[in-house]
Amino acid sequence: AIIPYKEILQMYWEKVTGFVNARCEGLEPWQLIGLTFSSTLASVWLHGFLCQPESLTSRSKKQFFKLLRKMPFVGAIIQKKIDEALNDVTSSLSFLKDEREYIKALPEQGMSQSEVLQKMKEYSSKDVRWQDGKVSGTVYSGEEKLTHLLVKVYEEFAWSNPLHPDIFPGLRKMEAEVVRIACTLFHGGPKSCGAMTSGGTESILMACKAYRDLAYERGIKQPEMLVPVSAHAAFDKAAHYFGMKLIQIPLTKAMEVDVQAMRRAISRNTAMLVCSAPQFPHGIMDPIEEVAELAVKYKIPFHVDACLGGFLIAFMDKAGFPLKRPFDFRVEGVTSISADTHK
Ligand SMILES: *Cc1c(COP(=O)(O)O)cnc(C)c1O
Repeated sequence: AIIPYKEILQMYWEKVTGFVNARCEGLEPWQLIGLTFSSTLASVWLHGFLCQPESLTSRSKKQFFKLLRKMPFVGAIIQKKIDEALNDVTSSLSFLKDEREYIKALPEQGMSQSEVLQKMKEYSSKDVRWQDGKVSGTVYSGEEKLTHLLVKVYEEFAWSNPLHPDIFPGLRKMEAEVVRIACTLFHGGPKSCGAMTSGGTESILMACKAYRDLAYERGIKQPEMLVPVSAHAAFDKAAHYFGMKLIQIPLTKAMEVDVQAMRRAISRNTAMLVCSAPQFPHGIMDPIEEVAELAVKYKIPFHVDACLGGFLIAFMDKAGFPLKRPFDFRVEGVTSISADTHK
């Protein structure tokens, strides 16, 4: 059965080569070589031009507006609009309505301790009363006893640079213990590990960087992260910083990430999946177990962002409000968690 196909193929092959040869008749060898060389260069350039991390439409738009702003008449109008918008933002962000005096250089004379403290009181007196509530997410506990304790702790370590554990081994021990405690809280098991960072955003950045590098190792050239639209902006930052593509996954009516949409968005380039526990805009827990199933099935790392109260939900069972579904390392497929204590 193969022979007729072979004959057909041979016939087409002869037709094609005959056609090409006829077109090349009369060309000198140097012309053939030169054409091949320049057309190869041209296609490499075209590929480089079309396939960039930033899409062609986005680049063309930017270029278009750059040119537009350079045009004499239109440019002036645009600049005027930009200035207006800037003024708007400035006036709406100026919360100190009464006085607009700012110190702009170091004073001639240094201040005494009591003057500095007096100055600090002046600044803090400008702040709103938060004790009545209604400013959720803006206050780091605020409990007086805890504040005093934190101040005392800070006094012990305010001057030591934790980059030098050889000089301050106690600091490193403390960090190691905090990491281990967190691993235990999230049921990480003896092999789990962690790192202490400057906050929620940096923790998310570190996870994304680790997964990007893993993706590179796996031969993925343009790693993508699949992130619910409700997730924190730290993922957008990570995508920008580390040259990843962020694909936003829509939510269901219940404001949970749409697992089917996430499944459809998975591709050869997927470097990581993301869920929040809970997410910032509505306080909803994403369906972590279902996304974890995808992570296991397609062998993709899966980050759970618990930066909003991760150290509270770890205690829900004990507090008598057991969670319906687990969110931490007990769920097979969850490969990293970010959490912080400050909100
Ligand atoms: C606040 C928040 C973060 C970032 O934490 P920072 O410590 O402010 O950088 C990340 N994820 C969620 C869900 C958050 O609410």
